[in-house]
Amino acid sequence: MKIFTATTPTEAHIICELLKSNLVSCEVRGEGIFGLQGEVPFGENSEPYVWLFDNDALPLAQDIIADYQQDPLGEQWQCDKCHERNEAQFGICWQCGATAPSIP
Ligand SMILES: [Zn+2]
Repeated sequence: MKIFTATTPTEAHIICELLKSNLVSCEVRGEGIFGLQGEVPFGENSEPYVWLFDNDALPLAQDIIADYQQDPLGEQWQCDKCHERNEAQFGICWQCGATAPSIP
């Protein structure tokens, strides 16, 4: 089932990785359409979203997403290599796999 609609592919990946790090099986979908935005009507169907494979994990997944949304710009670090922003709980960059710089 679709569990989260993101405004950017980055956000979709952050949520997806966040869920995976909690052993929730999911994937990002709808990214391919994102590049065509501007040609298709803006709306939920043109935005990337996170697809949950295991419906039993829904309550856990909702908790995780709620936590994320409470503090979306909280603890983050910027990748030295690709300058992507990553959530503090990730030890490596979701984008390029580089190791996180040491966080105080
Ligand atoms: Zn990176």
